[in-house]
Amino acid sequence: MYVRFSLNADLLTSGDIPGEAAAAIEQAVQEANETSFRRGVPKEAQPDDIGRITGWSVEGNALRLSIASGPYTRAHDALFRFRKSIASVLGRHRIGVRGIEVTGFTIRLEGSVEPAAIPRLPMIQETAFDENGVLLSLTLNAADLENKVPDRLVRLIEEKAEAMAYGGKAEHWELIYESPRQPPRFDRDPTEEMVKKGWIKHGAARGQWIYGPQAVQLFRAFETIVLEEIIRPLGFSEMVFPKLVPWEVWKRSGHAKGVYPEIYYVCTPKTRDPAYWEDVADYFKVTGEVPVEMIRDRIDGPIGGMCYAQCPPFWPFVQGETLATDCLPIHVFDRSGTSHRYESGGIHGIERVDEFHRIEVLWLGTAEQTVDTADRLHAAYTRVFDDLLELEWRCARVTPWFMAQEGLVGVSENEQIGTRDYEAVLPYSGGWLEFQNVSVNGNKYPKGFNVKIQSGADCWSGCSGIGLERWTAAFLAQKGFDMADWPDRVAELVGEPKEIFRFL
Ligand code: ATP
Ligand code: ZN
Ligand code: MG
Repeated sequence: MYVRFSLNADLLTSGDIPGEAAAAIEQAVQEANETSFRRGVPKEAQPDDIGRITGWSVEGNALRLSIASGPYTRAHDALFRFRKSIASVLGRHRIGVRGIEVTGFTIRLEGSVEPAAIPRLPMIQETAFDENGVLLSLTLNAADLENKVPDRLVRLIEEKAEAMAYGGKAEHWELIYESPRQPPRFDRDPTEEMVKKGWIKHGAARGQWIYGPQAVQLFRAFETIVLEEIIRPLGFSEMVFPKLVPWEVWKRSGHAKGVYPEIYYVCTPKTRDPAYWEDVADYFKVTGEVPVEMIRDRIDGPIGGMCYAQCPPFWPFVQGETLATDCLPIHVFDRSGTSHRYESGGIHGIERVDEFHRIEVLWLGTAEQTVDTADRLHAAYTRVFDDLLELEWRCARVTPWFMAQEGLVGVSENEQIGTRDYEAVLPYSGGWLEFQNVSVNGNKYPKGFNVKIQSGADCWSGCSGIGLERWTAAFLAQKGFDMADWPDRVAELVGEPKEIFRFL
């Protein structure tokens, strides 16, 4: 897609621009077109590719400009560059530039552009297709231009077009390890069996379970294995990450680009004055129903959502900081609370739920340190799944979630950035279940949260989400419920299931 920008704008001045300034303005325009707009432009660029002032006139206290460009020194960038140089010219006439009024802005995309790649987008007032491309007329102001709105619109349309072209193709998936086969000990859905045994019951909310002592014995056994075999030997320290995540964090982590369909949104009361809420409470007292519509009127937000991915709310801890070389790599983990995703109709068993429990392992340092930690984690996981849990599992490199999230489809240009998914076979269905992953996220988070390291090298990070429900589902699906069939270490850590409830 080739892109052209064209704008009309008035530079508003503190007083009327006198006629005798005309020659100096013309000279500044020529200087801009011939020199300043060409700065930083590749040599092979054609004149049409580069920003240039195509016309100007004076009307009272306004200098009216028309600027056109291709992809280099884009019209809006040219506008701000010119404002600087003209300010000193007008200064000689004791006139200052007070503001910019944008009177017209168009983007032309040349090439074949799918109309669906340009849905309702902010600021686009009109969209006109012809045989050579599309012309977008925008309504925006100088602050929008300074905020690079035109560039963001173009990039977004390009991303949508790429995603559509990529559409049908399967997600990148490349097998990197396959475990030895394991004899299946069970051929049914373990969730149904756990329900039958009274180990778990549905919670009152959708996609939520109440785990009885027997199920929690398994969770804690797996947690102990993770702590003793992975977290302690590799030197990770425990932290507590927040579980309510405001937009500020998701804007920086990139989740604000696409997580909306799966968020559990969080709102705050408009006021905590009991009088403001009295009729809501009274309505319930009289009818026995909670008046959801009345509540909707009395709340603000949403201010964000419940924990979705576990690591983003960690990052404000290091935001804006420079990390000393001698504290790197940083190795931490969090297991302090639930994650929440609206999985809609996808809910299944304990393995795909709206509320789940994870241990999140997070590390940061130089690129080498980050990749090295990911490799050492992979080695430790391999030992645990092969030798301790005796699982039948496999590991594959997949398109990093954030690349899919951000429409950056295809394989990353940096081979070391990406996600490894760990999958276990489910004998009852023959399918595979992703039960955890390891991601090397490159400089994505450090860049988003402005984190630097002392040496000046690029800061990288990685994370690994260990899903306790998924470990439990995978283990029970393969090993069943007869502890005699379980690997010794697991059986020993779990112990005899505690049956503390007796229902009459
Ligand atoms: P899936 O493709 O199965 O939906 P995902 O790619 O959305 O998984 P990630 O975002 O990579 O999962 O989350 C990391 C880990 O969190 C998963 O490996 C899994 O252990 C756990 N997890 C994610 N979603 C759920 C869920 N709905 N229920 C239980 N565990 C989950
Ligand atoms: Zn993470
Ligand atoms: Mg998912």
